[in-house]
Amino acid sequence: MRPRPLLKTCLLFTFAWSLANSQTAANLEMTIHVHDYAGIDPGELAEAEAFAARILHEAGLRTQLSNCRFPLAATALRGCAATAGGVTHLYIRLLPEPMAGKLAASTTILGMSVPTSHGTFPVDAYVFPERVGVLAEQDRGPVSPLLGAAIAHEVGHLLLAGNAHTVTGIMSAQWGPKERKDALMGVLTFSRRQSEQIRADVRQRMSGSNQRTHIAYDERGIEPNRDR
Ligand SMILES: [Zn+2]
Repeated sequence: MRPRPLLKTCLLFTFAWSLANSQTAANLEMTIHVHDYAGIDPGELAEAEAFAARILHEAGLRTQLSNCRFPLAATALRGCAATAGGVTHLYIRLLPEPMAGKLAASTTILGMSVPTSHGTFPVDAYVFPERVGVLAEQDRGPVSPLLGAAIAHEVGHLLLAGNAHTVTGIMSAQWGPKERKDALMGVLTFSRRQSEQIRADVRQRMSGSNQRTHIAYDERGIEPNRDR
């Protein structure tokens, strides 16, 4: 058990940010390609994506979401090829447990992003929906808000340079009951500072730059802390 004294002030600012950020969201847009290898119910996935989009909108971003389900139908091949769409396109791959286990043996890890070398912008991340489902089941809650928050967490890693993990909040590496409850209530959002960093990163990506000015990217998985 660890005390979490920094948590209390976060929610007070959420409303004010959303007003301020909604004005910038119109200009900053990312396309998020969600590649589902896990066979998630389409309705549940749409809900999760709506949660993720809302969290990112709170940070000042508009998102275009594009879904592909694997294995692909022949008619979908063209739109779902992992082509280089530039650094304003992100790829979130939802992996079933056998594939997740090869990337992250610990079942407490819910997702991970793929670092890049030489300071280029990362675009690839993974989320492990079955593990998110286990977590939701423990809380007797729906999967989609947690899955949406997990997607937003990994998008956060892609858009925040350096080790983006924080002690509390959506970028916490260990989601305790507070984060999970906030996710269910739709108030697990990026901090003001994180939102500013995200917008700056997207501006840089949209400017045509392919190189971050500074980077020390260090991904770690999301690990729910079970003893809190
Ligand atoms: Zn993380």
